[in-house]
Amino acid sequence: MSLGLTDITLTYPDGPTRLTALDQVTLEVPKGSLTVVVGPSGSGKSSLLAVAATLVTPDVGSVTVDGTSTTGMTRRELAELRRHSIGIVFQQPNLLPSLTAAEQLQVMARIDGRSPAEARTRALELLDSVGLADQARRRPQQLSGGQRQRVNIARALMNDPTILLVDEPTSALDHERGAAVIDLITRLTHQQATATVLVTHDRTHLTAADRIAEVHDGKLTLLAAAH
Ligand code: ADP
Ligand code: MG
Repeated sequence: MSLGLTDITLTYPDGPTRLTALDQVTLEVPKGSLTVVVGPSGSGKSSLLAVAATLVTPDVGSVTVDGTSTTGMTRRELAELRRHSIGIVFQQPNLLPSLTAAEQLQVMARIDGRSPAEARTRALELLDSVGLADQARRRPQQLSGGQRQRVNIARALMNDPTILLVDEPTSALDHERGAAVIDLITRLTHQQATATVLVTHDRTHLTAADRIAEVHDGKLTLLAAAH
């Protein structure tokens, strides 16, 4: 099991009371599988990813990454864990305007201590696997929205994470480009053997999933697999 969320409750301050964003959520995601989490806006999807990414500590419950519980880890240990084991694709690509597509990826590997040559090789390999081999020298402005999202996804895989967390990757894309991005994430999940969680409010993505979960008012229910 690569990612385990056990009995997670997360609340946020809400005036004099607290708002329950996640309510006793339990979810296990095996390596090489895609779990799609659906739910309306405000249901807790991004909160779920933030907890899984160890960016937010829940009030109750534990997160297990590659068999290791993150409970009690220091900030530094968590940062280290994220760097090695967790790839995060946020809704907006957040690419650096001055860097080429290849450089966006290479920066990640430098942080991880790889040599520039190794980083370059890995970056080009990943850009190739997301269909952007011929765009490696382009800067974000010269890429389409769909291409930027592909760079974003490739960047998240730069350090060979065991866990890939993807937040509404198609919200800024038209239907066809959105479908292509979901296909890509499905293929990479199997190729790179990541434990992938993809959250979306768009139900057309369900067919790609190994497992489907639904969040409603912070409560998660596992639905039947799509196939
Ligand atoms: P989703 O991604 O499904 O739209 P979120 O996880 O962003 O849902 O939000 C779940 C609930 O938690 C919403 O009611 C939202 O307003 C609230 N919320 C999210 N982030 C915060 C925060 N940092 N502070 C307070 N409330 C928050
Ligand atoms: Mg969200």
